[in-house]
Amino acid sequence: MDQMTSRRVLVVGMGISGMATAKRLRMAGWEPVIVERASARRLGGYFVVLFEAGRAAAERLGMLKHLHDRKSLQPGVDLTRSGKHRPGLSYVDMPGQPWLMVRGDVEQAAFAELPADIEVRYSTSPTEIVQDADGVDVTLLDARTGTSSTERFDLVIGADGIRSTVRSLVFGPHEKFLHPLGYMIAAFEFPGTPEGLEPGVGATFLEPDRGMWVYAFTDRDPTIMLSYRTDDVAAERSRPAVESVRAAFGANPPQTLVDVMNTLESSQTGLFDSADQVRMPTWHKGRVLLLGDSAWCVTVYAGMGVSSALAGADLLGTMLEQNPDDLESVLTEWERGMRPYVAYYQESGVKDRAFFVPDSKLQLLLRRLLPLAGRTRFGRRVIAKLLNAEDVIRYKNANILTEVLGGSPQQRKESQVDQRARHSAA
Ligand SMILES: Cc1cc2nc3c(=O)[nH]c(=O)nc-3n(C[C@H](O)[C@H](O)[C@H](O)COP(=O)(O)OP(=O)(O)OC[C@H]3O[C@@H](n4cnc5c(N)ncnc54)[C@H](O)[C@@H]3O)c2cc1C
Repeated sequence: MDQMTSRRVLVVGMGISGMATAKRLRMAGWEPVIVERASARRLGGYFVVLFEAGRAAAERLGMLKHLHDRKSLQPGVDLTRSGKHRPGLSYVDMPGQPWLMVRGDVEQAAFAELPADIEVRYSTSPTEIVQDADGVDVTLLDARTGTSSTERFDLVIGADGIRSTVRSLVFGPHEKFLHPLGYMIAAFEFPGTPEGLEPGVGATFLEPDRGMWVYAFTDRDPTIMLSYRTDDVAAERSRPAVESVRAAFGANPPQTLVDVMNTLESSQTGLFDSADQVRMPTWHKGRVLLLGDSAWCVTVYAGMGVSSALAGADLLGTMLEQNPDDLESVLTEWERGMRPYVAYYQESGVKDRAFFVPDSKLQLLLRRLLPLAGRTRFGRRVIAKLLNAEDVIRYKNANILTEVLGGSPQQRKESQVDQRARHSAA
């Protein structure tokens, strides 16, 4: 698989991964075609985090100028079931200084930077993908007309999210790669301010196996995340989100949570899903590659979905630009470069879940001491240790492109050793 005469790439999915990849590959001289199953752009607006790994990539992709940190700096509160307010922890206390915004901000930035002449076909999905050494034949179904046609591409990127069609057509069924963490997530925008809170003040309500987070911003209304443990995802999904959430949070919730749940009931744009990770031994097969949630969904608990998608697109496009004639080795090297970071984000998604949904009363007790501990230097050191600050900064704030491509031979060697260690640990 060398010397490419044509460079047509099909990008499946017009989320953040898809748009960033299409833009970067266009910069590298490719001709992208984007197909999106939905009939229009998906503008959903729940809370997302942008760490430096994502900001560095967003800057190179031209997106950073459209983005800003919306994080409210007001101290957060922790609510009790009886409605009492105590000092709480919030994303402001998280190591790594992430920027806070909503998914729609990043989607908008990616769209603003998408070259206008890239062909976008809405209501279109792949139904068959067949490849040989020289190219990929993809059958595309247009749901509006009900017609199918088969086209040839040099490369296919599956950027079609956690339940990726490209993955199921080329790599195998969802069950093989989806790893449920055993938690549900409801996320939605809250118009105004939840009852009992001041504007701009974030809040948590945490009990063993369930948690509510009100993410407050400086310059827009808050967004909400409700998350809880379950042994039966299918049962949770079988009824309306608000019914499942009400059952999970029990009788007599604090008034703020009542208000939040009433809003969930009327929310048109909310999301209600299980928290699943995608774990795969490889992200490419021949000329088909997965990128973003389709390849490695790390879950909301890691806070790295957007950052890793942007970093993946940035690295892939740069590598293809530098080595346009050897696709197989670029895809292999790209994967080798991304793996150690994604492995860490996935570990963080599992470990940091307890930050959002605690396991036990003991954890809650310890956590309540943290805002007090944060007042002393020693206490801050303990918090940094508990929150794995060093690793967060090393991996979530990594400038992945320069670390993978620009590091010294010694650094690259260390990165490969690290990767092997992680693989054998898995
Ligand atoms: C509640 C919640 C909170 C989150 N919070 C954070 C956070 O704090 N920080 C963070 O970094 N990330 C967060 N994420 C994750 C983040 O939004 C994604 O990881 C990131 O946007 C990358 O997504 P993606 O483009 O790979 O996939 P998606 O955003 O899922 O986009 C996939 C696109 O492909 C389309 N598609 C699907 N199937 C097909 C098909 N067959 N054919 C054509 N098109 C198709 C879809 O319609 C969609 O437009 C959160 C996710 C959730 C659910």
